[in-house]
Amino acid sequence: MPECEICGKRVDTVYEINFEGTRILVCGKDARGRDVINTFGPKSSEERSKPPEPAKAPMQEELIENYGEKIRKAREALGIPVKVLAERISEKESTLTRVEKQETLPSEKTRQKLEKELGIKLLAKSQESKQFIASKKSEPVTLWDLANKDEKDGE
Ligand SMILES: [Zn+2]
Repeated sequence: MPECEICGKRVDTVYEINFEGTRILVCGKDARGRDVINTFGPKSSEERSKPPEPAKAPMQEELIENYGEKIRKAREALGIPVKVLAERISEKESTLTRVEKQETLPSEKTRQKLEKELGIKLLAKSQESKQFIASKKSEPVTLWDLANKDEKDGE
């Protein structure tokens, strides 16, 4: 076990510091506030052997682009009017109508209830959508492109 060259204490981790022009090995306490050149010890070597963890981008899920259409289609597939669906998820009919028209975003709670009631997914991983945007970056996306995206993808 290395010893601190200042206080003589035996420590697991020693710090090589610049002490008045000389490099010496000291304990963590004596290294505090000094010019640390290197760190030696079981802890630091373990840390060094580990590959640095990539900065994880949080896999955020975002509301899909055509959430209103998806809700409407799923509702129509069930053959129920907005009013009935609104009652089932204890939401206002007017609010649901606006959500279907994408005039407003559903609240977190409403979205979850809609997904459960209609058996649909209204979220998509945001990273995927970013990739999609990146791949289309070369050509400017127009409203026409967005409106005809489904047909294009089907080709
Ligand atoms: Zn010391």
